Amino acid sequence: MKAFAYVNPTNEKDAIAALSPQLEQAMPLGGGQDLLARMKDYVTQPDRIVNVKSALESTVTPSGGGLRIGAAMKMVDVAEHAEIRRMYPAIGAAAIEVGTPQIRNQATVGGNLNQRPRCWYYRNEEFVCFKKGGDRCFSPAGENQFHAILGGGPSFIVHPSSLAVPMLAYGATFRLAGPKGERLVPAADYFTLPRQSLRMENVLAPDELLTHVILPAPGNVKSGHYEVRYKASHDWPIAFATVLISFNGSTVQSAKVVMGAVAPIPWRSPEAEQALVGKTITEETAAAAAEAAIRNARPLSQNAYKVDVAKTAVKRAILRAAGIQTA
Ligand SMILES: Cc1cc2nc3c(=O)[nH]c(=O)nc-3n(C[C@H](O)[C@H](O)[C@H](O)COP(=O)(O)OP(=O)(O)OC[C@H]3O[C@@H](n4cnc5c(N)ncnc54)[C@H](O)[C@@H]3O)c2cc1C
Repeated sequence: MKAFAYVNPTNEKDAIAALSPQLEQAMPLGGGQDLLARMKDYVTQPDRIVNVKSALESTVTPSGGGLRIGAAMKMVDVAEHAEIRRMYPAIGAAAIEVGTPQIRNQATVGGNLNQRPRCWYYRNEEFVCFKKGGDRCFSPAGENQFHAILGGGPSFIVHPSSLAVPMLAYGATFRLAGPKGERLVPAADYFTLPRQSLRMENVLAPDELLTHVILPAPGNVKSGHYEVRYKASHDWPIAFATVLISFNGSTVQSAKVVMGAVAPIPWRSPEAEQALVGKTITEETAAAAAEAAIRNARPLSQNAYKVDVAKTAVKRAILRAAGIQTA
């Protein structure tokens, strides 16, 4: 591993001062579950790492009927937090499925949302792909069974964060802080497609930190979250979905459908949402909405199976939101 400096600030201001406007020169360190692995694999080689765990908040505070979560909060604490689970059950459901207990005991909210793609070409130092400043994505002509079926091109990574999907569904806003001050960015505008920015997956500048997640009051919504993993292992899901529905009696008044692991960003499906509005949830209406969710899918040579997996995840998340028993 390349030698690097280690900085251990105790407040947000000092942490920001230790960062650099140059890409990957100085990097924030949360639980290190992603960054340290990339450094050991020579994929990311910063001159300085800035531990943000003592500099950023790790608590949950009430905020305008919703909650404000500090970016240094550990995933295990998110998964076990009574108010998060009560107000935003899909966030609790996503957090408890992340990796293993060991990973959840180290990983932070800020690190989870900003972790880099798991694409095996990106993670291999031999392949200088778009994400590393190269001139190609190796997946279309290569091994692409876990890559994007929606929103891909010219890079076909899928977004790796499980937390990002329910965060987007619940309308979270991220507080970012940098040398010029703070800015509030809705989760829906935070994550970027490769055609918007090839190197990075979000709008965070290299000298900014994600400091808080601000969740609005959840309102009267029912939620369903469903993840499909290979052999139910601790590995990342193959596809998953968070669905939020507000009902008028038994009729769907409004819906939010967001899919994970299918696209380079958490993928919201207005098509599925429209298919649900005005309907009563049954196996048939849930299946029709799930079909709508993947209508625009463009699988690569080896990942057509993900279309069916994503469809199943959406359908079962809808049924869960409606309180109908699923597998
Ligand atoms: C076997 C295995 C299975 C896994 N399964 C899943 C899964 O199902 N779902 C899932 O979501 N993840 C999964 N993970 C990934 C793991 O959850 C992430 O690596 C972890 O959440 C990252 O958090 P961290 O705090 O350790 O991040 P770090 O490694 O510390 O940081 C990750 C990145 O974010 C940046 N960063 C850290 N904090 C901030 C901040 N506050 N502001 C801005 N940038 C920041 C860092 O510079 C780095 O680039 C899995 C990992 C393994 C090894």
